[in-house]
Amino acid sequence: MINFQYARANDVADAVRMIAAEPSAKFIAGGTNLIDLMKEDVERPSRLIDISRLPLNTIEQTADGGLRIGALVPNSDLAHHPLVEQRYPLLSSAILAGASAQLRNMASTGGNLLQRTRCAYFYDTVTPCNKREPGSGCSAIDGVNRIHAILGTSEACIATHPSDMCVALAALDARVRVTGPAAERVMAFNDFHRLPGNTPQTDTNLLPDEIVIAVELPAQGFAENYSYLKIRDRLSYAFALVSIAAALELEGDTIKQARLALGGVAHKPWRDTAAEAALRGQAPNAVNFGRAADLLLRDARGYEHNAFKIDLARRGIVRTLTQAAQATPQSQSVKKIR
Ligand SMILES: Cc1cc2nc3c(=O)[nH]c(=O)nc-3n(C[C@H](O)[C@H](O)[C@H](O)COP(=O)(O)OP(=O)(O)OC[C@H]3O[C@@H](n4cnc5c(N)ncnc54)[C@H](O)[C@@H]3O)c2cc1C
Ligand code: SF4
Repeated sequence: MINFQYARANDVADAVRMIAAEPSAKFIAGGTNLIDLMKEDVERPSRLIDISRLPLNTIEQTADGGLRIGALVPNSDLAHHPLVEQRYPLLSSAILAGASAQLRNMASTGGNLLQRTRCAYFYDTVTPCNKREPGSGCSAIDGVNRIHAILGTSEACIATHPSDMCVALAALDARVRVTGPAAERVMAFNDFHRLPGNTPQTDTNLLPDEIVIAVELPAQGFAENYSYLKIRDRLSYAFALVSIAAALELEGDTIKQARLALGGVAHKPWRDTAAEAALRGQAPNAVNFGRAADLLLRDARGYEHNAFKIDLARRGIVRTLTQAAQATPQSQSVKKIR
């Protein structure tokens, strides 16, 4: 038996005090990822700091017309919140494409951001894995790498970030509000998750003594022209091989603004502003969508079992942008609710 302590934080300051005092401790929110990792002996926290009862479970409108989502808002409450369904249906679609209803009821907004990769070698403690045990090697590079990354990889790690919700948050230009012993700060969503580089053990730029307190959305939600496409091995209960969040602002037959982010292809949700810029001022058609896809995938590299993802992503991007332009999103259920 592996012993660990358990403590419940009374408020956010208490949670920060506890994690700062014991760096080998871990916050626990819904527990849907962390408990699995503990059972597999991948994570061995000395103490679980239970943050599930902190008052971070509200969704509020902000002064600039956006939304502030508390870190403990369950994924299902977020997906079905009337303001999210009406103004940010891309986010609802992405969340509802993930996990199962039971898991979404438990999973928190903050925990979804901090969930760890689904690389099988990361879970298999008898194989080398630089993310689990820095310096031990990467079993995936020359192993079974069908689900692995094609963009932003390194010689140390080719894992992907498994979240659906985060792909929509990247496309929507969300911000992450965190606090720690020093101060509260806000990070652009794109700066929150890291590429693996030489330190794949570190998934994000959250400091070890910081806690996520909220995710903030700007006012623009792209509610008219959006789509989230998740391509996976099974229709439910499976992580994305490739997922695409697309959002457009159209002015007549011209793209005024475009957003494009991919999941299942990199160590972080992959948003490419160059591909978005290439769509601005263009007509929303397959030729221009294909050009944007080629630009986004310009540095893509396939490994033995996952090279198919490059073509899959290209075709998925064209399809998702087409659905967005035609206001026929992949998830019709969200469209109907509106
Ligand atoms: C069978 C299965 C299928 C799944 N399928 C999908 C899927 O298709 N798509 C998808 O996107 N996800 C999927 N998930 C993942 C699921 O969405 C995550 O497990 C969940 O979002 C994690 O949230 P949690 O609150 O349970 O986190 P926890 O397990 O409590 O914590 C996860 C990590 O986040 C840290 N943490 C939690 N809250 C905070 C905070 N506020 N500040 C700082 N650190 C924090 C914890 O310390 C821990 O390291 C699946 C999970 C399972 C088990
Ligand atoms: S891809 Fe990353 S997580 Fe997977 S075995 Fe290699 S180092 Fe570990």
